[in-house]
Amino acid sequence: MIVKEWCMYCGECAGVCPRNLIEVRELTLKFNEDQCKECSLCIQVCPVKALQEDK
Ligand code: SF4
Ligand code: SF4
Repeated sequence: MIVKEWCMYCGECAGVCPRNLIEVRELTLKFNEDQCKECSLCIQVCPVKALQEDK
């Protein structure tokens, strides 16, 4: 997953991840990519489209 620089760390993506793989803390966003099942929920919920799939 790529996190764009316009991420505003609102925490929306962390809230929807069914596996709780996203941690937003102050000005960092951390993914536990190993366990990601690529459901794209976090991508869809981001209000500023800051999450993009890593192709
Ligand atoms: S939902 Fe988008 S703007 Fe909010 S913390 Fe996640 S990536 Fe950043
Ligand atoms: S794609 Fe799904 S499983 Fe992966 S981090 Fe986003 S919400 Fe979580």
